[in-house]
Amino acid sequence: MSMPAREARSPEAERLWQILEEVVDPEIPVLTIGDLGLLRDARVDADGAVTVTITPTYSGCPAMDMIEHEIKRVLGEHGYGPVAVETVLHPAWTTDWLSEAGREKLRAYGIAPPVRGTASKRALFGDEPEVACPHCGSKDTEQVSQFGSTACKALWRCRACLEPFDYFKCI
Ligand SMILES: [Zn+2]
Repeated sequence: MSMPAREARSPEAERLWQILEEVVDPEIPVLTIGDLGLLRDARVDADGAVTVTITPTYSGCPAMDMIEHEIKRVLGEHGYGPVAVETVLHPAWTTDWLSEAGREKLRAYGIAPPVRGTASKRALFGDEPEVACPHCGSKDTEQVSQFGSTACKALWRCRACLEPFDYFKCI
């Protein structure tokens, strides 16, 4: 073979992934678990049981319980079952897994997407990235508080248009 085999999904698995795109982050409902990069694997076993593998975002994020519940509900509605949800912690999720589509959705939703390449613990502890305002695009912005409306967001303000906005923190 001249080309390396891409990890091919079976049509069945592909259908699962499509269905699972209905599952959104309860905290940021414009983002699907696919956009977030949470969804790692989905497969149907020979006996018809479904196993979905996810990597949680922020550990202890209360949203994860809801996401697991949603995965089971959505697949159940499409006639799948039983459904097991497995959690894989390594490698740890980082905001770099957010898809390009996910970043665009965040911006349109008024949340500044995480700045690429700053996914490190340091970013959580005061190393401020250059964040563009999701409203006007200006980079003349400042952090108001490390704590936004949820644990994974910080509150920022734009000095150009004076609008406050949430910044999706990098990890
Ligand atoms: Zn602005």
